[in-house]
Formats: sequence, C-alpha cells, structure tokens
Amino acid sequence: MVYCKKCGKELSEDAEYCSGCGARQHVDELELASWGERLVAFLIDSLLVGIVAGMFAWPLGWHDPFPFLNIGVNSVFLFLYWAYLEGTKGQSLGKRAMKIRVVDLYGEPIDISTSIYQAVGKAFLMPLDVIVGWLLYQDKQQRLFNYLSGTIVVKE
Ligand SMILES: [Zn+2]
Repeated sequence: MVYCKKCGKELSEDAEYCSGCGARQHVDELELASWGERLVAFLIDSLLVGIVAGMFAWPLGWHDPFPFLNIGVNSVFLFLYWAYLEGTKGQSLGKRAMKIRVVDLYGEPIDISTSIYQAVGKAFLMPLDVIVGWLLYQDKQQRLFNYLSGTIVVKE
C-alpha cells in the first residue's frame, strides 16, 4: 500500500488520484517549466501590464523609492494581475503564451489566497525572489515565494 502525499489516505500503488482528497499521486511526472520559459512569460506580462500601469503612473509621477523593493504603480498592477489570473485560471497571459502554468506541489490548481502569496515576491521583491530561489530551491525551480506558498510552475 502507498499513502496519499497530501492527506495520508491509504491507496493502491497504481492509483492516479487520491480517492479521499483528489490529489494527483505521481507528481514526479510533472514537468517543470524552465527558468527561460518563465522569464519570457514574465517579460510578456510586465510589458502588457506596464503599458496599462504607465498610463496611471505617469500623471502621478510615482516612482519606486527603494532598490529591491518595488512598490510603484507598475508592481501593484502586476501583483493584482498575477494574483487574480493565476489564482483563477492558473495562468497569466504570458504563461498562457508559453504554455506553462502555476500549480501546487501535487500538480493541482492553486486557489486565490495561494496565488496572492506567490505573487507578492515577483511583484514587489524582484530580483531577490528569484535569486534566493536559484540558490536554495533549484530542485523544484522555485522562487522564494513559490517555496513559501508551496507552488511550482509546470509545462502544460
Ligand atoms: Zn488524499
């Protein structure tokens, strides 16, 4: 017998999904998205949101006050954009273009609160979020805030 990795229920070895909580069992088969694919998705998102945010930020003259802590209009827009789209659809427009998505460690869709958590790092704490992830969480290729929120980015 094996046990569900999420809820601990006993399952037969070949069970693909847990009969208790529905979690996918063979998570080793998930294929991680590369940092390169994620970077392209990030650049697409930043460009799209940057254009919209720029229209709001420019008249206000709002600039980021500190290095490594981005709290300008742009990052607030990006935060809301990622938190919402990745929490409801699993993908931003950039990720959809790259055919990658954000899931939990079991390959399941994330909810909005998890998405809000994972979006904090990439919206407000770039590039630290990625640098810490590169150094510490290379096995699952997680940003710091992926690690903290229990999320990974996989290929579709
Ligand atoms: Zn389970």
